[in-house]
Amino acid sequence: MRNPEIQPKKPDKCPICGENYLEAKANGFDIYGDPADLILELQGTEAKAILIRGWECHSGTKRGVFGTVLSFIRNGKLVEHISPDHTYIIFPGDKVIY
Ligand SMILES: [Zn+2]
Repeated sequence: MRNPEIQPKKPDKCPICGENYLEAKANGFDIYGDPADLILELQGTEAKAILIRGWECHSGTKRGVFGTVLSFIRNGKLVEHISPDHTYIIFPGDKVIY
């Protein structure tokens, strides 16, 4: 993992399914576990690919990824850009690469 010091914030509520983890947190449970570095290739974004450190959630038909953006590719250039608290909904045709 590059930049191991960058740790995305674990939200109290899952931004994809809306599950509230405050109670679990209060009881000492870490629902999310360790974040993973994921590459997103999304049809609906300006960036060609996005490297995000965070988590994926599947909830029924809804699928998404949330966490901290580390970098992205735009106009063929790699842009390093640390930006926390992003949520992306994954649609058919989008790709998530582990
Ligand atoms: Zn969720």
